[in-house]
Amino acid sequence: MSISPRIPQPRRRLLAWTAAGAASLAVGTLAGCSDSAHASGGAAPEPSDSFSPGAPLNPSAAAGLPGPMAASPVAVRSKPVYKIHDLLPDAPSDAIALTIDDGPNPVYTPQLLALLRKYDIQATFNVVGSEAHAHKDLIRQIAADGHMVANHTMTHPQPLSKRTAAQIDAEIADAQSVIVDCGAPTPTLFRSPGGDWSPEILAASAKYGMVPIDWDVDPRDWSRPGVAHITQKLMAARPGDILLCHDGGGDRSQTLESLKSVLPALKAKGFTFVRL
Ligand SMILES: [Zn+2]
Repeated sequence: MSISPRIPQPRRRLLAWTAAGAASLAVGTLAGCSDSAHASGGAAPEPSDSFSPGAPLNPSAAAGLPGPMAASPVAVRSKPVYKIHDLLPDAPSDAIALTIDDGPNPVYTPQLLALLRKYDIQATFNVVGSEAHAHKDLIRQIAADGHMVANHTMTHPQPLSKRTAAQIDAEIADAQSVIVDCGAPTPTLFRSPGGDWSPEILAASAKYGMVPIDWDVDPRDWSRPGVAHITQKLMAARPGDILLCHDGGGDRSQTLESLKSVLPALKAKGFTFVRL
């Protein structure tokens, strides 16, 4: 598998995400992102799932990260994208999109990539910056396989909307820098942890040139509800739906087991998988 050479980036400021960020990661527990504020109609519930972060980012390593993105701001949206055709109006009418959150993970991401290769499916990976920094090779592999690498914040704080505007900005900017430093294209899509949106989050997403994306099929796979439950929810998808699954943040073996049958079954139903 060929991997595109990295394009040198200008050096950037010292990341705000240094010792303080690493400390919060070390003690923090982060949920999978399907504690959806939009699905429940209220604030995301407390995490009940333990997110297992990779190695904390060394502050001295942070100093070597690339410079600020040459961000081309996009229009600020009043809400995120929930349906494929809101983002890709020319997508096939039977389009369906698989989004994979909270990785990369050294156990599950390679297995998922192999599965996607087997069924010739391109997906959208919403990656956490700290995990990307710990597993740069996986980010390169995701991109080399033709999947979309999108920004899912630096440390997956929940609820992101309760952070200050400066903290929200840093979470998004730092993840953006790490992802580019890994060798992936500059992300153009942003997913907030837990589907938690606010005017400040939507503005920051636009500032860094990203369209905010959400989902409309949520099997809550991060809560490990059983393979049958995950499969049933995913198989209920309709044309234009954005599906949410996870390859990081905990034990994702149920997710993988479900997708082994769901991916070919959805293709057999006539869906066309598209990456966002
Ligand atoms: Zn998440």
